Amino acid sequence: MFFNKRWTTLRIGRHRRAMSLLLVLLGMIWVPTATLAGQVGAIEIGDSEITLRFDDLVAGASSFLLAGPDRIALDIAGAQAGRSLQGAGLVRAVRQGQPAPDTARIVLDLARPAVVIGGRFAADGRSLTFQLRPVSAGEFERAARGPRTQLQPPAGFRAKPPEKRYSVTVPIGKPKPAVALPRIEGPDNSRLPLVVIDAGHGGHDPGAISPHSGKREKDVTLALARAIRDDLVASGRVRVALTRADDRYLVLEERYGIARRLKADLFISVHADAAESETANGASIYTLSEVASDREAARLAARENKANIINGVDLGAHSGEVSSILLDLTQRETMNVSSDFARLLQREASEAIKFRTHAHRFASLIVLKAPDVPSVLFETGFISNKVDAEFLASPAGQKKVARGVRDAVQIHFARQIAAR
Ligand code: ZN
Repeated sequence: MFFNKRWTTLRIGRHRRAMSLLLVLLGMIWVPTATLAGQVGAIEIGDSEITLRFDDLVAGASSFLLAGPDRIALDIAGAQAGRSLQGAGLVRAVRQGQPAPDTARIVLDLARPAVVIGGRFAADGRSLTFQLRPVSAGEFERAARGPRTQLQPPAGFRAKPPEKRYSVTVPIGKPKPAVALPRIEGPDNSRLPLVVIDAGHGGHDPGAISPHSGKREKDVTLALARAIRDDLVASGRVRVALTRADDRYLVLEERYGIARRLKADLFISVHADAAESETANGASIYTLSEVASDREAARLAARENKANIINGVDLGAHSGEVSSILLDLTQRETMNVSSDFARLLQREASEAIKFRTHAHRFASLIVLKAPDVPSVLFETGFISNKVDAEFLASPAGQKKVARGVRDAVQIHFARQIAAR
Protein backbone atom coordinates (compact mmCIF):
# COMPACT_ATOMS: atom_id res chain seq x y z
CA MET A 1 0.00 0.00 0.00
CA PHE A 2 2.67 2.42 1.14
CA PHE A 3 4.86 1.50 -1.78
CA ASN A 4 2.04 1.83 -4.17
CA LYS A 5 1.29 5.32 -3.03
CA ARG A 6 4.86 6.44 -3.23
CA TRP A 7 5.24 5.00 -6.64
CA THR A 8 2.14 6.82 -7.87
CA THR A 9 3.32 10.14 -6.46
CA LEU A 10 6.69 9.66 -8.07
CA ARG A 11 5.07 8.98 -11.38
CA ILE A 12 2.93 12.07 -11.18
CA GLY A 13 5.98 14.09 -10.26
CA ARG A 14 7.86 12.85 -13.27
CA HIS A 15 4.92 13.41 -15.50
CA ARG A 16 4.59 16.97 -14.26
CA ARG A 17 8.22 17.66 -14.88
CA ALA A 18 7.94 16.34 -18.42
CA MET A 19 4.85 18.44 -18.98
CA SER A 20 6.44 21.61 -17.72
CA LEU A 21 9.50 21.00 -19.89
CA LEU A 22 7.19 20.57 -22.84
CA LEU A 23 5.42 23.81 -21.99
CA VAL A 24 8.70 25.66 -21.73
CA LEU A 25 9.72 24.33 -25.12
CA LEU A 26 6.39 25.24 -26.66
CA GLY A 27 6.67 28.66 -25.09
CA MET A 28 10.07 29.18 -26.65
CA ILE A 29 8.79 28.29 -30.05
CA TRP A 30 5.29 29.69 -30.16
CA VAL A 31 4.98 32.73 -27.92
CA PRO A 32 4.99 35.79 -30.14
CA THR A 33 7.37 38.47 -28.99
CA ALA A 34 6.29 41.11 -31.46
CA THR A 35 3.08 43.04 -30.95
CA LEU A 36 2.07 42.71 -34.56
CA ALA A 37 0.27 39.49 -35.19
CA GLY A 38 -2.29 39.31 -37.94
CA GLN A 39 -3.80 35.89 -37.63
CA VAL A 40 -4.20 33.81 -40.77
CA GLY A 41 -7.96 33.33 -40.87
CA ALA A 42 -10.03 31.80 -43.65
CA ILE A 43 -8.34 30.22 -46.63
CA GLU A 44 -10.55 29.92 -49.69
CA ILE A 45 -9.48 27.38 -52.27
CA GLY A 46 -10.98 27.63 -55.73
CA ASP A 47 -10.14 25.66 -58.87
CA SER A 48 -7.16 27.82 -59.69
CA GLU A 49 -7.35 30.68 -57.20
CA ILE A 50 -6.56 30.83 -53.51
CA THR A 51 -7.40 33.60 -51.08
CA LEU A 52 -5.90 33.99 -47.62
CA ARG A 53 -7.64 36.32 -45.16
CA PHE A 54 -5.96 38.00 -42.20
CA ASP A 55 -7.63 39.54 -39.18
CA ASP A 56 -5.04 42.31 -39.01
CA LEU A 57 -2.36 43.92 -41.14
CA VAL A 58 0.61 41.79 -42.11
CA ALA A 59 4.08 42.87 -43.22
CA GLY A 60 4.43 40.90 -46.43
CA ALA A 61 4.44 37.50 -48.05
CA SER A 62 6.87 35.37 -49.97
CA SER A 63 6.31 32.09 -51.76
CA PHE A 64 8.60 29.32 -52.88
CA LEU A 65 8.30 25.82 -54.29
CA LEU A 66 9.50 22.55 -52.85
CA ALA A 67 9.86 19.53 -55.11
CA GLY A 68 9.30 15.83 -54.37
CA PRO A 69 6.64 15.77 -52.88
CA ASP A 70 5.56 18.93 -54.63
CA ARG A 71 4.45 21.80 -52.42
CA ILE A 72 3.99 25.52 -52.41
CA ALA A 73 5.12 27.29 -49.26
CA LEU A 74 4.05 30.79 -48.28
CA ASP A 75 5.70 32.74 -45.51
CA ILE A 76 3.52 35.51 -44.13
CA ALA A 77 5.64 38.03 -42.24
CA GLY A 78 4.01 39.56 -39.20
CA ALA A 79 1.39 36.84 -38.95
CA GLN A 80 0.33 34.01 -36.69
CA ALA A 81 -0.49 30.66 -38.25
CA GLY A 82 -4.05 29.42 -38.31
CA ARG A 83 -5.42 25.92 -38.55
CA SER A 84 -4.47 23.26 -41.09
CA LEU A 85 -7.28 22.19 -43.38
CA GLN A 86 -8.34 19.95 -46.23
CA GLY A 87 -7.58 21.01 -49.76
CA ALA A 88 -9.53 21.01 -52.99
CA GLY A 89 -8.69 20.94 -56.68
CA LEU A 90 -4.94 21.26 -57.20
CA VAL A 91 -4.34 21.46 -53.45
CA ARG A 92 -4.57 18.28 -51.46
CA ALA A 93 -4.09 19.79 -48.02
CA VAL A 94 -3.12 23.03 -46.34
CA ARG A 95 -0.79 22.89 -43.36
CA GLN A 96 0.30 25.78 -41.20
CA GLY A 97 3.26 26.27 -38.94
CA GLN A 98 5.19 29.02 -37.22
CA PRO A 99 8.87 28.87 -38.20
CA ALA A 100 9.50 32.13 -36.33
CA PRO A 101 7.40 33.95 -33.74
CA ASP A 102 6.32 36.55 -36.26
CA THR A 103 6.17 34.51 -39.43
CA ALA A 104 3.41 32.09 -40.34
CA ARG A 105 4.20 29.41 -42.88
CA ILE A 106 1.43 27.95 -45.00
CA VAL A 107 2.25 24.84 -46.95
CA LEU A 108 0.03 23.70 -49.80
CA ASP A 109 0.48 20.00 -50.49
CA LEU A 110 -0.18 19.71 -54.21
CA ALA A 111 -2.30 17.03 -55.82
CA ARG A 112 -0.31 17.67 -59.02
CA PRO A 113 2.56 20.02 -59.91
CA ALA A 114 1.45 23.66 -60.06
CA VAL A 115 3.15 27.03 -59.71
CA VAL A 116 2.00 30.37 -58.36
CA ILE A 117 1.22 32.96 -61.01
CA GLY A 118 0.23 36.46 -60.08
CA GLY A 119 -0.77 37.26 -56.56
CA ARG A 120 -1.77 40.48 -54.86
CA PHE A 121 -2.97 41.86 -51.59
CA ALA A 122 -6.39 43.48 -51.42
CA ALA A 123 -6.47 47.29 -51.21
CA ASP A 124 -6.95 47.11 -47.43
CA GLY A 125 -4.10 44.61 -47.01
CA ARG A 126 -6.41 42.14 -45.25
CA SER A 127 -6.37 39.42 -47.88
CA LEU A 128 -3.99 37.93 -50.41
CA THR A 129 -5.18 36.25 -53.59
CA PHE A 130 -3.07 34.32 -56.03
CA GLN A 131 -3.55 31.97 -58.95
CA LEU A 132 -2.17 28.50 -59.50
CA ARG A 133 -1.25 27.08 -62.88
CA PRO A 134 -0.71 23.33 -63.41
CA VAL A 135 2.68 22.57 -64.93
CA SER A 136 4.67 19.48 -65.91
CA ALA A 137 6.86 17.77 -63.33
CA GLY A 138 9.97 19.02 -65.14
CA GLU A 139 8.74 22.60 -65.19
CA PHE A 140 7.94 22.41 -61.50
CA GLU A 141 11.38 21.11 -60.67
CA ARG A 142 12.99 23.94 -62.59
CA ALA A 143 10.75 26.51 -60.94
CA ALA A 144 11.54 25.02 -57.51
CA ARG A 145 15.15 26.04 -57.97
CA GLY A 146 14.18 29.65 -58.56
CA PRO A 147 14.16 32.41 -55.95
CA ARG A 148 11.27 33.30 -53.68
CA THR A 149 8.49 35.49 -54.99
CA GLN A 150 7.94 38.50 -52.72
CA LEU A 151 4.60 40.27 -52.28
CA GLN A 152 3.82 43.37 -50.27
CA PRO A 153 0.54 44.79 -49.03
CA PRO A 154 -0.30 48.31 -50.28
CA ALA A 155 1.55 51.11 -48.51
CA GLY A 156 -0.43 52.36 -45.55
CA PHE A 157 -1.96 48.90 -45.05
CA ARG A 158 1.23 47.18 -44.15
CA ALA A 159 2.37 46.09 -40.71
CA LYS A 160 5.88 47.03 -39.66
CA PRO A 161 8.23 44.28 -40.80
CA PRO A 162 9.48 41.98 -38.03
CA GLU A 163 12.55 43.58 -36.55
CA LYS A 164 14.55 40.54 -35.79
CA ARG A 165 14.96 37.32 -37.66
CA TYR A 166 14.28 34.48 -35.29
CA SER A 167 15.28 30.95 -35.88
CA VAL A 168 14.34 27.84 -34.03
CA THR A 169 16.85 25.11 -33.59
CA VAL A 170 15.44 21.68 -33.06
CA PRO A 171 17.88 19.20 -31.57
CA ILE A 172 18.26 16.13 -33.73
CA GLY A 173 18.57 12.83 -31.96
CA LYS A 174 19.96 12.18 -28.54
CA PRO A 175 22.90 14.27 -27.50
CA LYS A 176 26.02 12.16 -27.58
CA PRO A 177 29.52 12.97 -26.43
CA ALA A 178 30.72 14.83 -29.48
CA VAL A 179 33.79 13.71 -31.37
CA ALA A 180 36.59 16.25 -31.50
CA LEU A 181 36.25 18.72 -34.33
CA PRO A 182 38.84 18.45 -37.07
CA ARG A 183 41.24 21.20 -38.03
CA ILE A 184 40.04 23.68 -40.65
CA GLU A 185 42.61 24.11 -43.39
CA GLY A 186 43.04 26.81 -45.99
CA PRO A 187 42.98 30.60 -45.70
CA ASP A 188 42.38 31.96 -42.20
CA ASN A 189 39.25 33.81 -43.27
CA SER A 190 35.96 32.77 -41.73
CA ARG A 191 34.02 34.47 -44.51
CA LEU A 192 35.24 31.93 -47.05
CA PRO A 193 32.92 28.95 -47.56
CA LEU A 194 33.77 25.80 -45.65
CA VAL A 195 33.71 22.42 -47.36
CA VAL A 196 33.77 19.25 -45.27
CA ILE A 197 35.13 16.19 -47.07
CA ASP A 198 34.15 12.85 -45.57
CA ALA A 199 36.27 9.81 -46.38
CA GLY A 200 33.77 6.94 -46.25
CA HIS A 201 34.22 4.02 -43.82
CA GLY A 202 37.37 3.59 -41.71
CA GLY A 203 38.66 1.76 -38.66
CA HIS A 204 36.99 -1.63 -38.27
CA ASP A 205 34.70 -0.85 -41.22
CA PRO A 206 36.72 -1.46 -44.40
CA GLY A 207 33.85 -0.75 -46.79
CA ALA A 208 33.90 -2.66 -50.05
CA ILE A 209 36.97 -4.70 -50.96
CA SER A 210 38.40 -5.17 -54.44
CA PRO A 211 38.25 -8.83 -55.53
CA HIS A 212 41.34 -8.24 -57.70
CA SER A 213 43.81 -6.36 -55.58
CA GLY A 214 42.26 -6.63 -52.12
CA LYS A 215 42.22 -2.83 -51.95
CA ARG A 216 39.86 -1.58 -49.30
CA GLU A 217 37.32 1.19 -49.86
CA LYS A 218 38.30 2.92 -46.59
CA ASP A 219 41.90 3.41 -47.80
CA VAL A 220 40.87 4.56 -51.26
CA THR A 221 38.36 7.07 -49.86
CA LEU A 222 40.93 8.48 -47.44
CA ALA A 223 43.48 8.97 -50.24
CA LEU A 224 40.80 10.61 -52.40
CA ALA A 225 39.66 12.87 -49.55
CA ARG A 226 43.23 14.04 -48.96
CA ALA A 227 43.74 14.71 -52.68
CA ILE A 228 40.50 16.70 -52.80
CA ARG A 229 41.49 18.66 -49.70
CA ASP A 230 44.91 19.49 -51.15
CA ASP A 231 43.40 20.78 -54.39
CA LEU A 232 40.75 22.83 -52.60
CA VAL A 233 43.27 24.33 -50.19
CA ALA A 234 45.58 25.15 -53.10
CA SER A 235 42.73 27.02 -54.82
CA GLY A 236 42.72 29.49 -51.92
CA ARG A 237 38.98 30.04 -52.44
CA VAL A 238 37.53 27.82 -49.72
CA ARG A 239 38.33 26.40 -46.32
CA VAL A 240 38.39 22.63 -45.92
CA ALA A 241 38.04 20.11 -43.12
CA LEU A 242 38.18 16.31 -43.24
CA THR A 243 35.85 14.27 -41.02
CA ARG A 244 38.76 11.86 -40.64
CA ALA A 245 42.39 12.28 -41.64
CA ASP A 246 43.42 8.79 -40.58
CA ASP A 247 42.10 5.26 -40.33
CA ARG A 248 39.36 5.66 -37.74
CA TYR A 249 35.75 4.70 -37.38
CA LEU A 250 32.98 7.28 -37.19
CA VAL A 251 29.26 6.58 -37.17
CA LEU A 252 27.34 8.28 -39.95
CA GLU A 253 25.70 10.83 -37.66
CA GLU A 254 29.13 11.93 -36.41
CA ARG A 255 30.23 12.57 -39.97
CA TYR A 256 27.46 15.01 -40.85
CA GLY A 257 27.47 16.17 -37.23
CA ILE A 258 30.99 17.50 -37.76
CA ALA A 259 29.79 19.42 -40.81
CA ARG A 260 26.88 20.88 -38.84
CA ARG A 261 28.98 21.84 -35.84
CA LEU A 262 31.51 23.56 -38.08
CA LYS A 263 28.60 25.27 -39.87
CA ALA A 264 29.91 23.93 -43.16
CA ASP A 265 28.54 25.20 -46.45
CA LEU A 266 28.97 21.93 -48.31
CA PHE A 267 29.47 18.29 -47.32
CA ILE A 268 30.93 15.72 -49.70
CA SER A 269 31.08 12.10 -48.61
CA VAL A 270 33.53 10.13 -50.76
CA HIS A 271 32.96 6.43 -51.47
CA ALA A 272 33.68 3.71 -54.00
CA ASP A 273 30.86 1.51 -55.20
CA ALA A 274 30.72 -2.28 -55.36
CA ALA A 275 28.62 -4.67 -57.42
CA GLU A 276 28.43 -8.40 -57.91
CA SER A 277 29.03 -7.93 -61.59
CA GLU A 278 32.67 -6.97 -62.04
CA THR A 279 31.84 -5.19 -65.27
CA ALA A 280 29.81 -2.51 -63.48
CA ASN A 281 31.85 0.69 -63.60
CA GLY A 282 31.68 4.47 -63.51
CA ALA A 283 30.97 7.15 -60.95
CA SER A 284 27.64 8.34 -59.60
CA ILE A 285 26.47 11.06 -57.23
CA TYR A 286 23.75 10.55 -54.67
CA THR A 287 21.62 13.14 -52.98
CA LEU A 288 19.08 12.66 -50.24
CA SER A 289 15.54 11.63 -50.92
CA GLU A 290 12.96 9.83 -48.84
CA VAL A 291 12.27 7.71 -51.90
CA ALA A 292 15.12 5.97 -53.72
CA SER A 293 15.29 6.72 -57.44
CA ASP A 294 15.57 3.03 -58.32
CA ARG A 295 16.16 -0.39 -56.80
CA GLU A 296 19.89 -0.12 -57.16
CA ALA A 297 19.89 3.17 -55.28
CA ALA A 298 17.85 1.58 -52.50
CA ARG A 299 20.35 -1.29 -52.28
CA LEU A 300 23.27 1.12 -52.17
CA ALA A 301 21.63 3.07 -49.35
CA ALA A 302 21.09 -0.15 -47.41
CA ARG A 303 24.76 -1.07 -47.88
CA GLU A 304 26.17 2.35 -46.99
CA ASN A 305 23.81 2.82 -44.04
CA LYS A 306 25.04 -0.50 -42.67
CA ALA A 307 28.28 1.22 -41.69
CA ASN A 308 26.53 2.09 -38.43
CA ILE A 309 25.85 -1.52 -37.56
CA ILE A 310 28.60 -3.44 -35.87
CA ASN A 311 27.91 -6.91 -34.48
CA GLY A 312 24.22 -6.31 -34.99
CA VAL A 313 24.24 -3.17 -32.85
CA ASP A 314 23.24 0.11 -34.43
CA LEU A 315 25.79 2.61 -33.16
CA GLY A 316 24.12 5.61 -34.75
CA ALA A 317 22.18 8.04 -32.63
CA HIS A 318 18.56 7.19 -33.23
CA SER A 319 17.11 10.50 -34.18
CA GLY A 320 13.76 10.91 -32.52
CA GLU A 321 10.84 11.55 -34.77
CA VAL A 322 11.38 15.24 -35.36
CA SER A 323 8.34 16.15 -37.37
CA SER A 324 8.77 19.87 -37.18
CA ILE A 325 7.43 21.47 -40.30
CA LEU A 326 10.31 23.92 -40.20
CA LEU A 327 12.95 21.28 -40.15
CA ASP A 328 11.21 19.47 -42.95
CA LEU A 329 11.19 22.55 -45.11
CA THR A 330 14.75 23.59 -44.29
CA GLN A 331 15.76 20.13 -45.38
CA ARG A 332 13.89 20.48 -48.67
CA GLU A 333 15.66 23.73 -49.45
CA THR A 334 18.97 22.09 -48.58
CA MET A 335 18.08 19.16 -50.84
CA ASN A 336 17.53 21.48 -53.80
CA VAL A 337 21.00 23.01 -53.34
CA SER A 338 22.47 19.51 -52.97
CA SER A 339 20.90 18.44 -56.27
CA ASP A 340 22.26 21.53 -58.00
CA PHE A 341 25.74 20.69 -56.76
CA ALA A 342 25.40 17.04 -57.81
CA ARG A 343 24.61 18.06 -61.39
CA LEU A 344 27.47 20.55 -61.38
CA LEU A 345 29.91 17.95 -60.06
CA GLN A 346 28.96 15.54 -62.79
CA ARG A 347 29.35 18.23 -65.41
CA GLU A 348 32.73 19.41 -64.16
CA ALA A 349 34.23 16.00 -63.41
CA SER A 350 32.99 14.10 -66.46
CA GLU A 351 35.92 15.15 -68.59
CA ALA A 352 38.39 13.51 -66.25
CA ILE A 353 36.40 10.57 -64.91
CA LYS A 354 33.79 8.26 -66.33
CA PHE A 355 30.24 8.53 -65.04
CA ARG A 356 27.49 5.98 -65.28
CA THR A 357 24.33 6.70 -67.22
CA HIS A 358 21.81 8.26 -64.81
CA ALA A 359 24.73 9.32 -62.67
CA HIS A 360 22.65 11.49 -60.32
CA ARG A 361 20.56 9.25 -58.10
CA PHE A 362 18.51 9.64 -54.98
CA ALA A 363 18.44 7.52 -51.86
CA SER A 364 17.77 7.72 -48.14
CA LEU A 365 21.39 7.87 -47.01
CA ILE A 366 21.95 8.61 -43.33
CA VAL A 367 25.22 10.43 -43.96
CA LEU A 368 23.38 13.01 -46.09
CA LYS A 369 20.76 13.86 -43.48
CA ALA A 370 22.11 17.15 -42.15
CA PRO A 371 19.03 19.34 -42.56
CA ASP A 372 21.01 22.52 -43.05
CA VAL A 373 24.19 21.53 -44.92
CA PRO A 374 23.92 20.76 -48.66
CA SER A 375 25.34 17.25 -48.99
CA VAL A 376 26.25 14.76 -51.67
CA LEU A 377 27.64 11.24 -51.59
CA PHE A 378 30.16 10.78 -54.39
CA GLU A 379 30.57 7.16 -55.48
CA THR A 380 33.78 7.77 -57.37
CA GLY A 381 33.74 4.46 -59.25
CA PHE A 382 33.47 0.72 -58.64
CA ILE A 383 36.13 -0.79 -56.48
CA SER A 384 34.79 -4.14 -57.69
CA ASN A 385 35.81 -3.22 -61.24
CA LYS A 386 39.46 -3.76 -62.10
CA VAL A 387 39.96 -0.61 -64.18
CA ASP A 388 38.04 1.66 -61.80
CA ALA A 389 39.86 0.28 -58.75
CA GLU A 390 43.27 0.87 -60.30
CA PHE A 391 42.26 4.38 -61.36
CA LEU A 392 40.96 5.30 -57.90
CA ALA A 393 43.96 3.83 -56.11
CA SER A 394 46.47 5.67 -58.32
CA PRO A 395 47.72 9.16 -57.46
CA ALA A 396 46.97 10.22 -61.06
CA GLY A 397 43.37 9.05 -60.78
CA GLN A 398 42.99 10.70 -57.38
CA LYS A 399 44.26 13.97 -58.84
CA LYS A 400 41.65 13.81 -61.59
CA VAL A 401 38.84 13.22 -59.10
CA ALA A 402 40.15 16.07 -56.96
CA ARG A 403 40.31 18.47 -59.89
CA GLY A 404 36.71 17.72 -60.84
CA VAL A 405 35.54 18.35 -57.27
CA ARG A 406 37.57 21.55 -57.02
CA ASP A 407 36.12 22.99 -60.24
CA ALA A 408 32.57 22.13 -59.22
CA VAL A 409 33.07 23.61 -55.74
CA GLN A 410 34.39 26.87 -57.15
CA ILE A 411 31.52 27.30 -59.60
CA HIS A 412 29.01 26.30 -56.93
CA PHE A 413 30.08 29.04 -54.52
CA ALA A 414 30.53 31.60 -57.29
CA ARG A 415 26.90 30.94 -58.27
CA GLN A 416 25.74 31.23 -54.67
CA ILE A 417 27.48 34.56 -54.25
CA ALA A 418 26.06 35.80 -57.56
CA ALA A 419 22.56 34.73 -56.48
CA ARG A 420 22.90 36.83 -53.34
ZN1 ZN B 1 30.97 3.20 -49.12
